[in-house]
Amino acid sequence: MKVMQNDLKRQHDIYGEEYNRKAVEVLNSGWYILGNEVKEFEKEFAEYTESKYCVGVASGLDALQIAFRVLGVGKGDEVIVCSNSYIACVMGITMNDGTPVFVEPDEYDNLDADKIEEKITDKTKAILAVHLYGQSCDMDKIMEVAKKHGLKVVEDCAQSHGTTWKGRKNGSIGDIGCWSFYPTKNLGAFGDGGALTTNNEAYAEEFRVIRNYGAKKTHYDNEIVGMNSRLDELQAGMLRVKLSHLNDLNKERQEIARRYDEGIKNPLIRPLQTRPGSNAVYHQYVIHCEKRDELMNFLKENDIGTIIHYPIPPHLQQAYRGLGLKEGDLPIAERYAKEVLSLPIFNGMTIEEQEYVIEKLNSFKG
Ligand SMILES: *Cc1c(COP(=O)(O)O)cnc(C)c1O
Repeated sequence: MKVMQNDLKRQHDIYGEEYNRKAVEVLNSGWYILGNEVKEFEKEFAEYTESKYCVGVASGLDALQIAFRVLGVGKGDEVIVCSNSYIACVMGITMNDGTPVFVEPDEYDNLDADKIEEKITDKTKAILAVHLYGQSCDMDKIMEVAKKHGLKVVEDCAQSHGTTWKGRKNGSIGDIGCWSFYPTKNLGAFGDGGALTTNNEAYAEEFRVIRNYGAKKTHYDNEIVGMNSRLDELQAGMLRVKLSHLNDLNKERQEIARRYDEGIKNPLIRPLQTRPGSNAVYHQYVIHCEKRDELMNFLKENDIGTIIHYPIPPHLQQAYRGLGLKEGDLPIAERYAKEVLSLPIFNGMTIEEQEYVIEKLNSFKG
């Protein structure tokens, strides 16, 4: 049996007819940028995330870049970010000339909130809480530290569409929520897309101005140097269809995760830990294994696809050698990069496929 790590075609087919119908409708509308689909999606997604405002942009990275810009992060300002995250989180900070200050992850593979305070200096401006793999960071502790030190909080929700922290939707707990709709995400488009959510009206207005060339009143009245970062009508239409099914799609992922939790019985493999208080939506199901590379090869020999999220932590990337960090500086992130493995998980995955994966995982001898 062959099992892919992710099969977007399978996911598409679940509501394929609905997407196809909507796509034709948008194509025939004659309106492709900043129209009714984007407006309606923003309304629906604000409601879904329990936020007052949602502004669609072109990608998750753009959302992060815009968020830190609006919060006033600039040269010399420091932003706390977890050390084992995706590179986009760091780029969103450095594109504004801000400096990332890395905090190591906890046993849930997310920012260890107990280690934030020791990294705060008089230059610290914000905390980026990345809800990695689809489960919430400890938002109680993060908000408490932020309040105590007068810091802003950005939530990176690119992997956590629909997660909650103690019953509250992520993306509306901090000052700004940043979202990606890259096709593999739980709420994925059919191309690039992103959004920002906030309860702050002034921020929302700034997001709208920045995404559209800094134009405020009319398209040709540019008050600031903005960007071209617009969610397009076609993607917004697709996202509206998928959003209407997102709770079911997340439930399916949660069931797959539960079967992994129950089925994986191999002392060499540590299944994903879920933080109490977070309802994980399992963007990825990540295991830890000291013999990760051997396990990955073994699964590959058995036609099972896996991915490493992420093989090189940001501070060791060539792009960030300018930060002056070296191997050994962030040992937990470095160890995780050698241990983590994302198992197959996607909407439309069959029980037979999953039983096959579990059987192979349990037969791995190292
Ligand atoms: C995917 C992702 C991003 C970036 O989103 P893009 O739409 O690809 O720019 C940012 N942060 C995290 C955690 C992600 O997983």
